[in-house]
Amino acid sequence: MARIWIVKAILSGLFLAMLATGGSQLFRHRHFDIPIVAGPGVTKVVRLSDYCPGLKGTMADTPVFFMEGKEAGGKVLIMSNTHANEPEGHLAALIIIENAVVEKGTLLVIPEFNHSASRNTRPGDGYPLYYEIPTEWGKKKFRMGNRDASPLDQWPDPDVYIHYPDRQLLSFIDVRNVNRTWPGRPNGPLMEKVTFAAMEIMRQEKVDLAVDIHGAETMFPVTNCIVAPEKSQKIATMAALTVKAKEGFDNHVEPSPRGFRGLSHREIGDYSATLPFLLEAPIPFLDQPTGPKTEKLLLDGKDPFLLSLSREKKLFVPYDESGWPLEKRVGQHCSVTLEIMRQFSKKYPERAIVVQGIPRYADIVKNGVGCYFHDPEKTEKNKIYLN
Ligand SMILES: [Zn+2]
Repeated sequence: MARIWIVKAILSGLFLAMLATGGSQLFRHRHFDIPIVAGPGVTKVVRLSDYCPGLKGTMADTPVFFMEGKEAGGKVLIMSNTHANEPEGHLAALIIIENAVVEKGTLLVIPEFNHSASRNTRPGDGYPLYYEIPTEWGKKKFRMGNRDASPLDQWPDPDVYIHYPDRQLLSFIDVRNVNRTWPGRPNGPLMEKVTFAAMEIMRQEKVDLAVDIHGAETMFPVTNCIVAPEKSQKIATMAALTVKAKEGFDNHVEPSPRGFRGLSHREIGDYSATLPFLLEAPIPFLDQPTGPKTEKLLLDGKDPFLLSLSREKKLFVPYDESGWPLEKRVGQHCSVTLEIMRQFSKKYPERAIVVQGIPRYADIVKNGVGCYFHDPEKTEKNKIYLN
């Protein structure tokens, strides 16, 4: 009898030790902050809760960086980390915050749109908790997040998510997916408050363009593209043709489906005067049939299983031994964002947006992503935002 109790005690002890080791890693990840250096173009920083008070004090509240030009002009809202497991968008937005100087018009940037998801992970899929980008001054460390907000911040999930206001039935998990909860409401679930705050920014600040930056699987048909509703399609098409002709990369236009509700490229267009665009770059890490989900795969996009699937023409993008490195993905996002602004400015010169300092595709492929991040240790403290 006594022996059974000793075995039970040892097993319980082992279980608690595993729980403490695993749990402390997740706790540290959730509370790890990334220093964002506000570059020379940042004129003020407010918070999402300034546009929806229900967000105050929650993990979903996050900074909104304003970059105002000396001359009045058009306004662009750039959002990234809508899905916090697609780092190419986040890194492109941070490059803009650290380097852009606006001459005319205003940029508004929300680098961690789903801030709760950026402090969540997917242990069942073996996600790395962090990834590091080499820079001239050392490695800059980032949290690797998840697609959906953390259940610690929004719980319980319904059996089915009933979209507001269209009442379309969506998967239960989409109640925590901030790209299904547009246009949101001030008293809805937390993620609806996030999209409502962004809608309020667009309505109150009279934003002309909204750019929502993502990554998508190479086996998913809507990848390496600009998703645009009818009213944004002319500008999207001109941007796609121009980057193809001048910079040599593909980024075709996909129409935003009318019947699929809750997505930024659909609801922003339907519920405000803003022209929405959703950018996708291929991210092999997110594909299902890959090897282990390592930091290396996240950064270089090289995977032998995808390579063999590519030979059987199962992917929606060209794929060879060079993979799909982060520099290409971030570079595409910067160039396409710049090109959308340029095409809009040509069409509406009175609302033009003129920006300097944002690197283009060829610059980022050549210099790497880390080249555009400044050392927080050598930056004045009042220019650093922990996020
Ligand atoms: Zn996404």
